[in-house]
Amino acid sequence: MSEARHQYTIADLRSWEKATRGLHPSPLLGVLGDPVAHSASPPMHTAALRFHEIDASYVRLHIHPEELPEAIGLLRENRFIGVNLTIPHKAAVIPLLEQVDPKSSRFGVVNTVAFQNGTARGFNTDGEGLARAIKSDFGQYLKDLRVLIVGAGGGAGRAVAIQCAAEGCPAITLVNRTLSKAREVEAETRNCFIKSHGTAPRSLIAISNDNPALPRVLANTDLIIQCSSVGMLETDPSPLPESLIAANHLVYDTIYSRETRLIKRARELGASCSNGLSMLLHQGALAFEIWFPGKIAPLDLMKDALLRATTKPTH
Ligand code: NAP
Repeated sequence: MSEARHQYTIADLRSWEKATRGLHPSPLLGVLGDPVAHSASPPMHTAALRFHEIDASYVRLHIHPEELPEAIGLLRENRFIGVNLTIPHKAAVIPLLEQVDPKSSRFGVVNTVAFQNGTARGFNTDGEGLARAIKSDFGQYLKDLRVLIVGAGGGAGRAVAIQCAAEGCPAITLVNRTLSKAREVEAETRNCFIKSHGTAPRSLIAISNDNPALPRVLANTDLIIQCSSVGMLETDPSPLPESLIAANHLVYDTIYSRETRLIKRARELGASCSNGLSMLLHQGALAFEIWFPGKIAPLDLMKDALLRATTKPTH
């Protein structure tokens, strides 16, 4: 019996039988991205597959943007059960699918595809994954919190903003370096709020990182969700002025690869803080339950696998 490779390519998918000969269980699930080598999803899903004794494995697929249409066709031919999608495929995959789950369509991006009865169906589990992460890490419902999203103009920030609108958060502040991008997300967030609740949001604003209103807004914020890429490098500053973080804030940083300056400062102040590992866990658990209806994702086992994978280099 041979071992699965760290990642596979479109050339492998073209001759999948040859590329995976001798592998048991057969790879029937995976994550598509560019890059994808860093993804911690395979160990997390492997833990769930083993727990349920499902005869399938989960692999990384390094697919370039121009290869995506062919890759989706090959996944069907090779009888995949489903896949996750990461950067840069989450929006590009939508025209390649027969259906998008109605609740997921408001996000404009999907992170999960299920191949069921010859149909490719798209889902977004990131938004609900975040809501579950907030409940599990802080013991509070997202719907009850006044939220400030920093990095609101990026892909993650947009998904978080749409989820906050769907939940009906009492206040949503969108902060982004490029104000025009935050304004676009503001319009989408407003639409989603109206569609979900039949009324306009009570408080929804878009501002840039250096807006003088930031101290007042942060004083009226319960939960800060950090969605920018600032903090991924050790030398990165905090994306918000550190002096404005207070002990009563809940601080959630979607970055999980290292302790960011924002989280360090929040921790020093005694604020409740957490990182994006729980969002990754919950979106993965929701995806697993889409692929295997009726089976419950074993959260504790998946979390242990994620923690092991993110505290040691993956390659
Ligand atoms: P993206 O679409 O490229 O967006 C990047 C965001 O960061 C934009 O809002 C951008 O602002 C902002 N930004 C970048 N450099 C900046 C700087 N020097 N100063 C201020 N703002 C800056 O990326 P993404 O896909 O949203 O990912 C963003 C982060 O979310 C990443 O760190 C990723 O790890 C994390 N994430 C976590 C999960 C999870 O499951 N935990 C899932 C998805 C993403 P502009 O609009 O002004 O460029």
